[in-house]
Amino acid sequence: MKAPAFDYARPRSLAEALALLRRHGDEAKIIAGGQSLVPALNLRLLAPKLLVDIGGLSELKGIAVADGTVRIGALTRHVELMRAPEIARHLPLIAAAMPHLSHAAIRNRGTLGGNLAHADPASELPACCLALGARMTIAGPDGERELAAEEFFTGIFETALRPDEILTRVDIPAVGADEPCAFLELSRRSGDYALVGVAAQGAVRDGGLSRLRLAFFSVGPTAMLARRAAAALEGRPITDAAIAEAQGALAGDLAPQDDLQASAATRLHLARVLLRRAVHALVPGAAEKAA
Ligand code: FAD
Repeated sequence: MKAPAFDYARPRSLAEALALLRRHGDEAKIIAGGQSLVPALNLRLLAPKLLVDIGGLSELKGIAVADGTVRIGALTRHVELMRAPEIARHLPLIAAAMPHLSHAAIRNRGTLGGNLAHADPASELPACCLALGARMTIAGPDGERELAAEEFFTGIFETALRPDEILTRVDIPAVGADEPCAFLELSRRSGDYALVGVAAQGAVRDGGLSRLRLAFFSVGPTAMLARRAAAALEGRPITDAAIAEAQGALAGDLAPQDDLQASAATRLHLARVLLRRAVHALVPGAAEKAA
C-alpha cells in the first residue's frame, strides 16, 4: 500500500520545528529515520496532514561525554550507537544490545529518539534506558523538561511526549569499567523483535550484586524494571536459592500477555530463564552453575 498524501516540511532549527508542531497540533507528525513511521503510513494506520522532518536539526545530533554523563542526541542513528567508542567504553550495555536491534538497513536509518518515541514494548533501547537510569530531555512550547526513563514510557506505543514536543537528547550516567552488565534476548530469528529480553546493569560488591537494575522487555506494555527480583539478589551470596527466589519474584514484576507469538506463561518462563543467565553473566563465579 502507499501512504496517504501529506505535506512535508524540513525545518532548519529546533525553534522552527516546534513552531510547526504548535501550529498544526495533532495533524502534524515528526519524522526522524522513518523506519517505524513510514510503514505505519503505508499501512494507513496513520494519516497526518504534515510531516515535520527533523533530520536536519544539528542540535539533536552527536554523542558527548562530560562530568560522568554520556549525552546522546535524539537523532543519533542506531549504527552510530553500535560503532561509537564512547558507547563501547561508557555504556557497554547499549553496545551489547545493538546487534539485536533489527538489521543493518534499519540500523542505518533508525534513530535513538525515534525508537524511544515509538515505544515498542519489544524494543531493546527502552529497556537499556531503564536499566541505565537514563533521563530524557524534551523540548516544547514552554521550554525544556526532563523525565526519567521510568516516567517517559507510559504504555504500549505510548510515551509522556505531547504532540507539540520533541525528544531532543538522552543523558545516561557513564558506567564504571568494573560494573558488569548483561544483555540477553530470545527471538525466533536473528534481527526479529524479541520474544523476551533483559537488559541488566549492576555492580559487584564482596562477591554479591548491588545497585542491580533488571529491565525486561516484551513482557508487558512497556519495558519494565523487575524491582522485586533485583531486591531478591542484592547484597547476598549468589546461590541457586537466591536466583530461584528472584525468578519467583518475576511474576509480581512483569505483566506478560498472550499473543500470536507466545502465551503469557511462556513469556514468564523465558524471562525466568533469561534472569538466571543474566545473573551468571554478571557474576562469572556463578557461571559453572548456568542453566
Ligand atoms: P521514525 O519512524 O521516524 O518515527 C517513529 C515515531 O517516533 C513517530 O511517531 C515519530 O513521530 C516519533 N519521533 C521520531 N523522532 C522523534 C523525536 N525526536 N521526538 C519526538 N517524537 C519523535 N526496533 C527495535 O527496537 N528492535 C527491532 O528488532 C526492530 N526491528 C525492526 C524491523 C523492521 C523490519 C523495521 C521496519 C523496524 C524495526 N525496528 C526495530 C524499529 C526501528 O528501530 C526504528 O528505527 C525505530 O523504532 C524508529 O526510529 P526512527 O528514527 O526510524 O523513527
